[in-house]
Amino acid sequence: MPPAVLQSPLSRARDSLLLCRGCLGPVGPGAEAGLCARCWEGLLPLPGGRCPRCALVHGDGVCPEVAAWELGDALWDYHGGRPPLGALLLPGIKQGETGWRRALLGRLARAPLPDWSAEVDGVTAVPSTPLHRFLRGFDLGAEAGQLLAGRIGKPFHALLAKGWLSGRQAVRTESQRRRLTRKALRLRSGASPRGIILLVDDVWTTGTTLLRCAQALRSGGADEVRVLALFRAL
Ligand SMILES: [Zn+2]
Ligand SMILES: [Zn+2]
Repeated sequence: MPPAVLQSPLSRARDSLLLCRGCLGPVGPGAEAGLCARCWEGLLPLPGGRCPRCALVHGDGVCPEVAAWELGDALWDYHGGRPPLGALLLPGIKQGETGWRRALLGRLARAPLPDWSAEVDGVTAVPSTPLHRFLRGFDLGAEAGQLLAGRIGKPFHALLAKGWLSGRQAVRTESQRRRLTRKALRLRSGASPRGIILLVDDVWTTGTTLLRCAQALRSGGADEVRVLALFRAL
């Protein structure tokens, strides 16, 4: 259940009348932000036995991913649940679903974290473009990074910047995407990453953006980068 402060009597009343916005069934007890308890159970942890670097299950041996970090993980399977909850929540949140955003951050505040996430010197996040921040009025990655920094008691710094012209990743081909992110992601002027940096993102898909961010942090002076995403697309 969400903390009482996040669920007003009005939203409780509405939840009892409406259908779940995920599965279209009755919302019932335990609903939050218009989604029933069963849909929220779609926040599924990643499978056990996954690689400690790329967070995928690929058997023994050398990790095939090109990565600028040794430790990487995510809290939830992006396609977990039915309907897949991450794939429902994140686009909705980016379109202004404030209730979903608050509910997801509430779960982030309680989710178990990898042990190694606390052994860092600072936290930063994959940046969104200035245009997206302006249009949305928030930056989910930065909010998640700040929340995690608070949980582990380490400072959060916005160390990375993304150019104005880097548009939606989803509409680009893989080769366009690789070319673009190389130019678009950079260290902010005056940023000086030191020690071990925890790099936070909302969803880890191909890893190209994370790779560029980690490379920028390493070349800017970070000794090590560790990656933690809310969701991993498997
Ligand atoms: Zn549902
Ligand atoms: Zn791997």
